[in-house]
Amino acid sequence: MTNTDAIVVNKVKESKITTTDFDNLTFGKTFTDHMLECTWRDGKWETVVIKPYGPIQVEPSCKVFHYGQAIFEGMKAFKDAEGDVFLFRPEDNWNRFNESAKRLAMPEVPKEIFIEGLKELVHLDKEWVRYGEGLSLYLRPFMISSENGVAAAPATEYKFMIIMSPAFAYYKGDVRVIIASEFSRAADGGVGYAKAAGNYAASFYPNNLALEEGYQQIIWTDAASHEYLEEAGTMNIFVRIGDTLLTAPNNDRILNGVTRRSVMQMATDHGITVEERRVSVKELRDAANEGTLKEIFGSGTAAVIVPIKGFKHKDFVHELPVLDNSYATTLMGALKDIQYNRSEDKHGWRVKV
Ligand SMILES: *Cc1c(COP(=O)(O)O)cnc(C)c1O
Repeated sequence: MTNTDAIVVNKVKESKITTTDFDNLTFGKTFTDHMLECTWRDGKWETVVIKPYGPIQVEPSCKVFHYGQAIFEGMKAFKDAEGDVFLFRPEDNWNRFNESAKRLAMPEVPKEIFIEGLKELVHLDKEWVRYGEGLSLYLRPFMISSENGVAAAPATEYKFMIIMSPAFAYYKGDVRVIIASEFSRAADGGVGYAKAAGNYAASFYPNNLALEEGYQQIIWTDAASHEYLEEAGTMNIFVRIGDTLLTAPNNDRILNGVTRRSVMQMATDHGITVEERRVSVKELRDAANEGTLKEIFGSGTAAVIVPIKGFKHKDFVHELPVLDNSYATTLMGALKDIQYNRSEDKHGWRVKV
C-alpha cells in the first residue's frame, strides 16, 4: 500500500551549497539541502515527502529512545567525469534494510519508497555529489519507531527517512587492531546480521578500551569461543595468507556486507583465489610466525577497503609487512573504477540516477 506516484517535494528556498566548504568537510557532519521522510501508521506507509533537511519533532516518550528500534543503511552516490551520478548496488542495501526491519519487528519498506525515493532525493541534490578522486555523497536511509509511550512492545508508528552527507576520501591514519578475547559485538541468535543502531552502541565501550591501548579497532571473534575471526570493527574482514584471500562466512553475528561481496567478486575476476571459510586466531598467529600472513583488511561502504597495519591478540603483537602488490590496493582500485564509471560494469552494479 503505497502512493509514491505522488512524492511530495518541498524545495528549500535557498540552497546551502554555496556556503558549504567542500575542502574542509568532517565526515558525516554536513548534510545536503533535502531529506526524505515517510511515516508508517495504521498498517500502511503514508505519502513520501522530500523536504528541507532539518530537525524532526518527537516526544520524550518516543519509543526509539527507550527500546532502541532503529536500523540504518550506508550507501554512496558517485559522479563520473561527464557529471552523471550513479548508485552502487542499491537493491542490495534495500534488501538488507528489510532483513534488518524484519529482525527488529519493524515494517518492511517497499522498493518504490526506498529506491525510487532515494533516486528522486539524490537527483534533487545532485550538485552535492562532487566529482573527484574519493569524493562521493554518503546516503543514510534509516528507520525509527516514532510512536509515543513507554510500553515495551513494538510500535504502531515508524518513520523511514533518508539524509545525505557529502563525503571525501577518508584516510584515518594507520589502523592497528586488537583481536577480541573478551567482548563480543553480537551474540548467537541475536541481531548482529542486522544493521541495528544498538550494535554500534554495544561496540563503543570495548572500542574505547582498545583506543586507550593505542589500537584503533577491534577484530571481533565468535561470541562462543573467541577463536574465529568475524568482523573488523564496523567492516567485514579479509585475510591474505600466502596468495589466498580468506573471509569469514556469513552467520547471524556477521553483517552481510555489499562491499565484501563486491571484493570477493573483484578478486575472483582478477584470478585471486578466494576462500569463504572460518579463519581461527591460531591460524592467523601461526601464519604470522611463519611469514605467510601478508595482509589483513576490512571492507565497508564508508572507506571501501582499510588495510590493517598490525594486530594484538592477548600478549601476541604482530606488524604486517608493507607490500608492493597488495590485494587491498588492487581490489580497491578495481571497485572504485566501477563506482566512478571508469571501467566496464560487468556485473551490473551501477545504477544511474
Ligand atoms: C555496514 C557494516 C559492514 C559493511 O557493509 P557494507 O554493505 O559493505 O557497507 C560490515 N560490518 C558491519 C558491522 C556493518 O555495520
